[in-house]
Amino acid sequence: MVLSGKCAAPGVAVGRIFIYKNNILLPKENFIPEKEQQENIDRYLLVKKQAMEEFAEIKTAMRKHDPKKAEIFEAYQEIINDIVINEEIPSKIRNENWAGDWAIYQVYETVIVVLQQTADSFIAERAVDFDNVRSMLLRLWYGEKNDGLEHLTDYVIIAAHDLLPSDIACIDRNKVLAIITETGGITSHTAIIAKSYGIPTVLGINELLDTVKHGQMAVVNADEGQVILDPEESVVEKYTQKSDIFLRDKKITETYLYREGCTADGVRIDIGLNISNVDMDLTAADYTDSVGIFRTEFLYMGRDTLPDEDEQFTAYSRVLERYGQRPVIIRTLDIGGDKELASMELPEEKNPFLGNRALRFCFSKSDIFITQLKAALRASVNGNLWLMLPMVSSLEDIRRAKEFICIAKEELKKEGAAFSEIKTGIMIEIPSIALISDLAAKEVDFASIGSNDLCQYLCAADRMNSDVESYYQSYHPAMFRLLKDVIKAFDKAEKPISICGELGAERLAIPILVGLGLRKLSMGAASVATVKRSLSSITLKQAEEIAAKVLELPTAAEVKKFLAGVKY
Ligand code: PEP
Ligand code: MG
Repeated sequence: MVLSGKCAAPGVAVGRIFIYKNNILLPKENFIPEKEQQENIDRYLLVKKQAMEEFAEIKTAMRKHDPKKAEIFEAYQEIINDIVINEEIPSKIRNENWAGDWAIYQVYETVIVVLQQTADSFIAERAVDFDNVRSMLLRLWYGEKNDGLEHLTDYVIIAAHDLLPSDIACIDRNKVLAIITETGGITSHTAIIAKSYGIPTVLGINELLDTVKHGQMAVVNADEGQVILDPEESVVEKYTQKSDIFLRDKKITETYLYREGCTADGVRIDIGLNISNVDMDLTAADYTDSVGIFRTEFLYMGRDTLPDEDEQFTAYSRVLERYGQRPVIIRTLDIGGDKELASMELPEEKNPFLGNRALRFCFSKSDIFITQLKAALRASVNGNLWLMLPMVSSLEDIRRAKEFICIAKEELKKEGAAFSEIKTGIMIEIPSIALISDLAAKEVDFASIGSNDLCQYLCAADRMNSDVESYYQSYHPAMFRLLKDVIKAFDKAEKPISICGELGAERLAIPILVGLGLRKLSMGAASVATVKRSLSSITLKQAEEIAAKVLELPTAAEVKKFLAGVKY
């Protein structure tokens, strides 16, 4: 029998099913006498406090190795503190005599149903988060401990209705061959975590728990979104081989993490780290050569006040100190587009990605810009600061930004604050500056290619709009022709050039980028090992040949087809 679902994380596994039920008895409609109301309210508050503590604990543990995932638990804490829910639950207990567990169940249910009915699939999937929080509260209400997945002794395929991120966070990931669930969208947090752990995962299998049995043999072919139950011996054999290859491959990739980035013939490639989270644990400093981009806007977002100069100084200094004399590229504030400031009411724009974004915003709010520049300059004494300007579209932008830097320096001098020599560079992410790279290279010390935005502006396709996803073509021949000229211009001017957009971490794109002359790539920590491994499997000559061929191809589809056929 073959079951079908959606692939949330690729891979193949063969093993026995372990049915995981998070042991929550769903409450029945239940009413209490008036004298028990206060006790039920107090118990709800206690359970809420315990849940907050559990989430905080998991968050702290996760922050150490994956700050991005830790954010999920922060989102859970926000849900627990939701004002409406926290008025409703005690009110239902007090005014309608609902038992506490029934009140928790029903009040959350109202929110979950509303979310599920939203047309926007992203919002609809957030219903799972509310459901997860409710499960945690009910589990604590009934005094259940969540110890089902922590102590797995065998290698198993976990089958569940749904898994809470808190369930996944505490599993022994080496014991889990695959995950299969009835619910969960491919952008759900369960999927995000499973993917980052590299566990093959299939979600959305109808009536899974009514179909499978505990201990039943199964093959999970996540690549195809399939689960084969009671497979024949020949099928087991075929997929065991595939699964072995998958696991061996994953282990091999991990061994590249601490190696140098270099091609098979020893051409050294600088591996930079992309920092998109201010609290990020900086272990990656042990296996990267530099910081290729520190997206400082995340220091400003999701809070009611702007960070002041001292707070910024501390955040920038932490990274600079950790990297010592290795370059740290701090990008100035890139607010606007999809990134909003909760602390400021900004006018709504019809085309925010073409609007008052990043450097343009900073020019219009000089106090905010100067504060950031002063903080970064002061932090420069703690390391090797390269300051990068986003959304540069002309030489005037560069000159104007430099004037701001001069003003910031003057103010610091007057204040008697120390700062060091820094390098100033730009992001190449708007075609107008890319096309005059030769001129730009004369005015700056370095550049980094922001392929995420460059592609959206070059192809005129909004990077956030899935309806035009097919027009957003990172492998469009125009991208590579443009990159070739940009890289050449900076090479000629003997100024460093790197890439910090997502393309720089893509296995298929790496030979092209190196072949076009890039010697610096920057990426998220999770991509470092894969990129180093890809680099080690090509020589410079091969990369140059691949790049030359790509430049001749007429469409993105043909570029991808060609790359898929290249053995490296
Ligand atoms: C880019 O545009 O490629 C980039 C790195 O910046 P961001 O994704 O933050 O816009
Ligand atoms: Mg950008």
